[in-house]
Amino acid sequence: MADIAHDTGFVEIADRCWVARFEFLDVNVGLVGGDRGLLVVDTQASEVEARRVVGLVESLGVGEVVEVLNTHEHFDHTFGNVVFAERYDGPPIHAHEDAAAGLAQTGPALQRDAAGDDTDPHLSDIAATRILLPTETFSSAKAVDLGDRLVEMIHPGRGHTGGDAVLRVGDADLLFAGDLVEESTVRHGVPGYGTDCYPMEWPGTLDLLIGLLTAHSVVVPGHGLPVGKDFVEEQRSAIGVVAETIRDLASRGVAARDALAQAQWPYPADELANAVRRGYEHLPRTSKTLPLI
Ligand SMILES: [Zn+2]
Repeated sequence: MADIAHDTGFVEIADRCWVARFEFLDVNVGLVGGDRGLLVVDTQASEVEARRVVGLVESLGVGEVVEVLNTHEHFDHTFGNVVFAERYDGPPIHAHEDAAAGLAQTGPALQRDAAGDDTDPHLSDIAATRILLPTETFSSAKAVDLGDRLVEMIHPGRGHTGGDAVLRVGDADLLFAGDLVEESTVRHGVPGYGTDCYPMEWPGTLDLLIGLLTAHSVVVPGHGLPVGKDFVEEQRSAIGVVAETIRDLASRGVAARDALAQAQWPYPADELANAVRRGYEHLPRTSKTLPLI
């Protein structure tokens, strides 16, 4: 797989498919080119960061941005939307419908937290960003015609968030996976189990995603280096173990607060607090307690 250094601009990893990798959060921005122009996958964490991305698109010199996709609602994938809208005269900004609704709900609160925190210089940029919501939403899948190639935006199910989307570039055997797949070492290789994750559904979502891959597919995660199908299968298996362990503990009557200490986990337990809390919440009521009485 391609080794892409941080902050060095867009690297072409397949026919007219580029990735730029940034040191801040190890986040990726993707670019897909067609006759009609460019589709940007994710827009970075703030207006300041997005202006850097626009500069990199312009120095690449392969065309104008005509479509934008947010793979999910998180700020590091959406907060640059306004910069692309203004620079490129309002291209459609696509997202899953739950990602658009989620950004509207959680974006302003995240900015209030960032405004009161001076531990990282990026936070003031995040707080000052004008949030622009996606303009075009879809519920399961949508194709976009870039002229000489068709790309597909697909919601394979919930996992990292409720509104995860992937972009499939079939003719290049390439998939931008958003944070459903994470290679980055920022969180010690642990997938992003945040406060809004769906740990019990994530394995099935990855099964659908894996069904879109061939042995030669390139998968671009939301954070970290591009990977192959083997990597995604391994991550799916670990995410599946997390879900099965939660199910097993709950069925044996172990309380959520004791779960992390009561089992072996495929990831460091202190990274799984949200996974366990959310997993217990999402289990059907009947599987949480033994039918003793
Ligand atoms: Zn995310």
